[in-house]
Amino acid sequence: MVEQYLFQMVPIPGRDFSFVHGWLPGLCSLREQIFLENYQQKMGFDKEKAVWLAQGKRRIKCMEDCVFCDIVAGKASASMVYEDETVCSFLTIGPVNPGHLLVIPKQHKPSLSDLDEETGMHLFKITMQMAKALRHSDLQCEGVNLFLADGEAAFQDVFHVHMHVFPRFQGDQFKVDANWEIKPSRQELDEIAERIRHAQELRT
Ligand SMILES: [Zn+2]
Repeated sequence: MVEQYLFQMVPIPGRDFSFVHGWLPGLCSLREQIFLENYQQKMGFDKEKAVWLAQGKRRIKCMEDCVFCDIVAGKASASMVYEDETVCSFLTIGPVNPGHLLVIPKQHKPSLSDLDEETGMHLFKITMQMAKALRHSDLQCEGVNLFLADGEAAFQDVFHVHMHVFPRFQGDQFKVDANWEIKPSRQELDEIAERIRHAQELRT
């Protein structure tokens, strides 16, 4: 019953309220979490089982709804530029400039942390080749930007890893907006570097 119910709930990746409750990471909506908490109590499921059921269903649902998986499977059309066993590259339908490509792993991997290193390396290798192809093409291309949005806060819109590769030229409309005036002290930079090094050590 819980599986059927979750299946019907259609998680929306753009609305992740998991931080509100904290104990159900990876779920897509607050409604799902409240439902699961109630269901867990009623059925006596332990937390892990409730999370496992919900995440499994979310993964299946995300795959079913994924436009990039549809492209890989040939169910949706795309202007393909490159394809091998592991990755493919095609033109985005929302380009910054003409020639704006996406490079994706063929397997459905929602975020960078889901991607194995070997696939990640291959993805970057093909990204470099695509950047070179853009520069050698007759498209307007004075420079190239690479852009990978990992997570909702980073403006990820399709939750299947994708690298943007797009031509740039003087006077185009692409902007990266931030307050570039903030200049932290060396001490602050060193402290931040130490926190990142520490996190790296914990992972290895
Ligand atoms: Zn996908």
